[in-house]
Amino acid sequence: MTDGRFRVLVTDEVDPEGVAILRAHPDIIVVEKPTRPAPEVLEEIGEYDAFVGRSATRVSKEFLQAGERLKVIGRAGVGVDNVDIPTATQLGVAVINAPGGNTVSVAELAFGVLIGLARNLPAAWDSMHSGRWDRSKLGGTELRGKTMSIIGVGRIGGEMARRARAFGMHVIGYDPYIGPGRFEELGIERADRLNDALDRADVLTVHVPLTPETTGMIGAPELSRLPRQAFVLNLARGGVVVEDALVDALRSGRIGGAALDVFDVEPLPADHPLRTVPNLVLTPHLGASTRDAQRNVAVEACEAVRDALVTGDLSAAINAAGVGGAGMRELRPLLLLADRLGRLGRALVPGALTSLEVRYTGPRGEAPRPLLLSALQGALRDVVERRAINLVNAQHVAAERGIETASTRVEGRGELGEEIELRLEGGERSIRVGGALLGETHGRIVRIGAFRVDVAPRGVLLVLRNRDVPGVIGRVGTLLGEASVNIAEYHQARLQVGGEALAAVSVDSRIPAEVIERLAALPEILDVRQVDME
Ligand code: NAD
Repeated sequence: MTDGRFRVLVTDEVDPEGVAILRAHPDIIVVEKPTRPAPEVLEEIGEYDAFVGRSATRVSKEFLQAGERLKVIGRAGVGVDNVDIPTATQLGVAVINAPGGNTVSVAELAFGVLIGLARNLPAAWDSMHSGRWDRSKLGGTELRGKTMSIIGVGRIGGEMARRARAFGMHVIGYDPYIGPGRFEELGIERADRLNDALDRADVLTVHVPLTPETTGMIGAPELSRLPRQAFVLNLARGGVVVEDALVDALRSGRIGGAALDVFDVEPLPADHPLRTVPNLVLTPHLGASTRDAQRNVAVEACEAVRDALVTGDLSAAINAAGVGGAGMRELRPLLLLADRLGRLGRALVPGALTSLEVRYTGPRGEAPRPLLLSALQGALRDVVERRAINLVNAQHVAAERGIETASTRVEGRGELGEEIELRLEGGERSIRVGGALLGETHGRIVRIGAFRVDVAPRGVLLVLRNRDVPGVIGRVGTLLGEASVNIAEYHQARLQVGGEALAAVSVDSRIPAEVIERLAALPEILDVRQVDME
């Protein structure tokens, strides 16, 4: 602050409507400059409390280190690939982006290409420009009365639902990570299984982040379930719909048409086979490319930067600046353990999570809330856009999804040292998972459901429920060995002889799906889950 006012450097031609929001505040001085080479920015960044830019200026480690007074980085857009987030977090600089500003632009483009498909607009355009009059060849279909299945009912999926209803379509949503309330609010049918959404989709549109679960989510088997002549849209991320399978389905006439705005490889190579497929509408990642989206993201980012500076409101920050400095360093081993327990609990309670509670036993009065946030981060990390969840906004994301949260502390020490217990609830299931910090830094998972275990939260954790009969460990070990999966630790626990047992197996690499299937098929195995711990 200079003279009690915050200095903000704005560059990269952020939309003027956003900049005006900063200028309008009496406690903020705005200095606007064109995009410049990095050394020039480095020289003066030390004079500013905040920086607002787009993707052209790299907010590197050097930039953040030179910006000694920096409190906030605002990115007028969604992607933060140009910002060194770990360094910002380490230095306690909040990083703010504008995730919602382009939602409507993407949904409108999706409807644009959908109507294009339904009414053969690209073909009609082409035919008219070539001097023809193909009126009889270019008959189309109405959208009214047809069914649209939306995979991923987040921001964009929700806008798709509203628009589809306005077109008189029946809408089915599939999003196992969202509670029933959102479906009711949008007035759409909720599919419990992906297949239920596929079987009736005259239009299939995906709006999920790219995660291990959504990669290849719509491949040949999924496309073959769609009603004949269905349309398929991917304006989410390349890789969600399998490109080769889509080409086959289009060429064989199995589906009626498709539209892609995103690709496995971008820019799409000039000679890429996708460019020659009939009934495939291609756009060069145009979803967010509108003047309005650019203005919206500038307004969203500048409002959030203003609030962060003036009132200290960091709810829009995407990094862990809320828990900064020395306190954060001391809590780190516990936070890491809570995150891993969150991942583990989540894997054991599939479907929409309805509540997550954290109980911490130990001496640190300030620990419960950051531990809750870290546990939420672990539990929700594969469900929302990667990087979109962190300690600062985890609570907010959970509230949006209708997840109830609580954190408590028991004073003193647990049996094993400082202890964390998580209780997760979703649908019909609930589970308790527990961990302990042995010494200052050494986290262990010590409880899964009713079972006592002792295994490190590292690598990949395989959790097996089995009948307590002889030979199980050998058979599991052989299957993993044959697949060249190295076992680091194998912990077997049981409640009583001959009853149900649980194995927590820490392995060095992810186990291929077919090996998981073979494990699940063993007669004595009741349930198999694998959880990424790194
Ligand atoms: P969001 O985080 O608001 O919503 C994503 C939804 O997907 C969440 O509700 C989540 O619960 C759901 N989901 C996650 N995994 C799932 C699974 N396995 N099965 C079913 N549902 C699952 O994100 P958003 O802002 O709506 O963005 C959606 C997608 O659109 C993202 O991939 C984003 O990168 C992409 N996007 C593309 C453009 C473009 O230019 N084409 C622009 C903006 C966003």
